[in-house]
Amino acid sequence: TPTVRNYELDRSLITPSAKIGVGQFGDVYVGTYTLPKLGKGKNLAGNGKNSNSDQRNADSRPDVIQVAIKTCKANDDPEKTENFLAEAYIMQKFDHPHIIRLIGICSVMPIWIVMELAKLGELRAYLKTNSERLSHGTLLKYCYQLSTALSYLESKKFVHRDIAARNVLVSSPTCVKLADFGLSRWVSDQSYYHSTPTVALPIKWMSPESINFRRFTTASDVWMFGVCIWEILMLGVKPFQGVKNSDVILKLENGERLPLPPNCPPRLYSLMSQCWAYEPLKRPNFKRIKETLHEILIEDSINSSE
Ligand code: ATP
Repeated sequence: TPTVRNYELDRSLITPSAKIGVGQFGDVYVGTYTLPKLGKGKNLAGNGKNSNSDQRNADSRPDVIQVAIKTCKANDDPEKTENFLAEAYIMQKFDHPHIIRLIGICSVMPIWIVMELAKLGELRAYLKTNSERLSHGTLLKYCYQLSTALSYLESKKFVHRDIAARNVLVSSPTCVKLADFGLSRWVSDQSYYHSTPTVALPIKWMSPESINFRRFTTASDVWMFGVCIWEILMLGVKPFQGVKNSDVILKLENGERLPLPPNCPPRLYSLMSQCWAYEPLKRPNFKRIKETLHEILIEDSINSSE
C-alpha cells in the first residue's frame, strides 16, 4: 500500500463548519485549513494562482483556504477505514486542473480526508438550478474539461470505473472537476476485472462488458463518459429513467442507445454514439475524444458568434 505520510495534516489547523454532503463512509463538511507557515510556497489548493482576495500581493499565498472534509463513521473498523483512505491514496497521485485535489489526511481517529473544495457543489444539482442560464457552449466546455481529466487518467493507466455526472463537482461557473475515486483502480490491479464491490453497481452507466463480465478498462470508462456527456446535455436528467436495471442490458444488446438530447450538435451525438460501440476496441480513446471535443467547442463558438 502506498503511503500518504507526507500528506498527514495537523488537525488543529482544520476547522470543519457546515455539513455539505453525505458520502458512503460518512458526512462531508465544508471548512477551513490554515496553511502552516513554510515560507513562500505553492498554494496547496493547487490552482496555481493566487486567490482573488490575494491579488494585491501576487507573491503571498492565502493563510486560510476553504476545504471539504470527508469523515468516516466506522472509525474503529480497520477494514472500513482502509477502504475509506484508499480514495486518498489514489487522489494523491494526481495533479490535474479538472481533478479534485487531495490536500491531506488526518490518519488517526477521527480519520479525515481533506480535499480542495468545489464551491458550487454537485454538477447535477447545479445543472438543474441553472438550466435557464447555462449556454450550450458552457455545457460543451464542461464535457471538454472532463475529457482532459480523463485523458490524463488514461495516460496514467488509471481506470475510474464510476464516471457519471453525480461524481462531477463545480468549482466555478466555468470550471468542473472530477471527484470520487472510491471505485477506481490501477489497470495493473487484477482485482478490478472481477470486482465484488460492496456498493451497488451503476448499471445504467456501465458498458455491456462491465455489466456482463465485470470487465472494467479504459474503454469501459469511455462508454461511461458517453453517458456522462448525455447527462450534462440533458441538464442533469439521469439515463434510462423508469427502466429496470435488469432490462438495461437487453436494450443495449438490441442496439438501443440513449436518445439525442435537445440542441445537441450532431457531431457530438456522433462522438457519444462511438463511445457506445458494443465492441470496446471500436470506441475512441480519451485522447481522441478530447481532440474531437475541442474541435466541436471551437465550431460551436464560431457558429454562436455568427
Ligand atoms: P458516493 O459513493 O455515495 O458518491 P462518497 O463516499 O464517494 O459517496 P462523495 O460523493 O465524495 O462521497 O461525497 C458526498 C457529497 O459531499 C458529494 O456528493 C458532494 O455533495 C459533497 N462533496 C464531496 N467532496 C466535495 C468537495 N471536494 N467539494 C464540495 N463538495 C464535496
